[in-house]
Amino acid sequence: EKLRYFPTDKAGIRQGRDAHFGGNLSLTYDDPVMLVRGWRHHLFDEWGRPYLDAYNNVPHVGHAHPRIQAVAADQLKQINSNTRYLHPAQTAFADKILSKMPDHLQVCFFVNSGSEANELALRLARAHTGAKGMITPDHGYHGNTTGAVDISAYKFNKPNGVGQADWVELVEVADDYRGTFRRDDPDRAQKFADLVDPAIASLHQKGQGVAGFIAETFPSVGGQIIPPRGYLSAVYAKIRAAGGICIADEVQTGLGRLGEYYFGFEHQEVRPDIVVLGKPIGNGHPMGVLVTTKEIAESFDNGIEFFSTFGGSTLSCRIGREVLQIVDDEGLQENARLIGGQLMAGLRMLEAKHGCVGDVRGMGLFLGVELIRPDGAEATEICAYVKNRMRDHRILIGSEGPKDNILKIRPPLTIEAEDAEMIIAVLDQILDECA
Ligand code: PMP
Repeated sequence: EKLRYFPTDKAGIRQGRDAHFGGNLSLTYDDPVMLVRGWRHHLFDEWGRPYLDAYNNVPHVGHAHPRIQAVAADQLKQINSNTRYLHPAQTAFADKILSKMPDHLQVCFFVNSGSEANELALRLARAHTGAKGMITPDHGYHGNTTGAVDISAYKFNKPNGVGQADWVELVEVADDYRGTFRRDDPDRAQKFADLVDPAIASLHQKGQGVAGFIAETFPSVGGQIIPPRGYLSAVYAKIRAAGGICIADEVQTGLGRLGEYYFGFEHQEVRPDIVVLGKPIGNGHPMGVLVTTKEIAESFDNGIEFFSTFGGSTLSCRIGREVLQIVDDEGLQENARLIGGQLMAGLRMLEAKHGCVGDVRGMGLFLGVELIRPDGAEATEICAYVKNRMRDHRILIGSEGPKDNILKIRPPLTIEAEDAEMIIAVLDQILDECA
């Protein structure tokens, strides 16, 4: 009851954070928002003022979904235990995930975050191949653990980052707007993929061997990039020929967000050896899932137990299955396709109208707007301005890219036509301010 009315003294709360939290915990926006309630794709601050959540992909089926509340409450009343005991929720969740996957993927590992799932993916790749070397696109992000940071150029390559490990090779991200090979080159997919050849050679030369390739299927922190069709299939062929396995990090792209596709790897027409899921699969409950083949799982099954205390808990399995079921029942993948199409059309209109919009790209509700200066260089300051002004208008969006000049629109899949109209209309006004 006491917490019904929230302190409005944001400065005091910030002081508390400064006193008790690490300084590298970041806050979004020059004037950060305090959010105390959510409903579908709407958020409410300490005064009850509404905001449109056009950014957070974790509440995939919407904030505070009643069906998630109901299964969580129901399960917590009964039991919440671990995978050392039998419970039908475990296999029901696995069955539901696997029903969305290609047939060769048959084994699920349940963990607590995307980072943990990627960390486990590294262990599986090593166990299966006997090699250590990994190849990954530049500017990628796979998580906050030691191993995951080592394959995340977005972290290890920062000025005070840990630097590049000798078992990691970077390849240029397949960005056909700003990269080495552009959209006017019909062979750009193959040319980007060919950059993997010297990376493989370098790993061999260093005696690391090729354990695998890992990529966000559509690089997100790299700038909401949709690699040209044919890119991943060409890369996967090269990696497999070198003895490695192929890992698709679908943390941001999976589960229907792309509208047309349930997973990003379907667009690239590839069959990954490992798929990593996270964020949206728990709709806010911490979860990560790794899905792989029987053969790879067998290589990892070396007599040493794999156990995660909370991974695959009864509660997690109930929630995860419910999220996937809600996506189906509420037609959210189709909604992502429709509203994503509407947003894309609006963004293209803004691109034609405003000189600072260099590119709009994306698929479904995974969208990016690249802001540029008159000379075509990355407009980092304009991007920060626009993001903060959108917040003033109570629309929450983000920014991404190596130069942080790409607006990122990635709402819960429940977003509606009128919300999309509002995003475009307000963005249009704010871009006018930048002219
Ligand atoms: N992979 C990708 C593509 C991500 O975006 C993230 C989180 N931003 C992670 C992995 C790590 O997930 P988590 O924060 O749940 O550990």
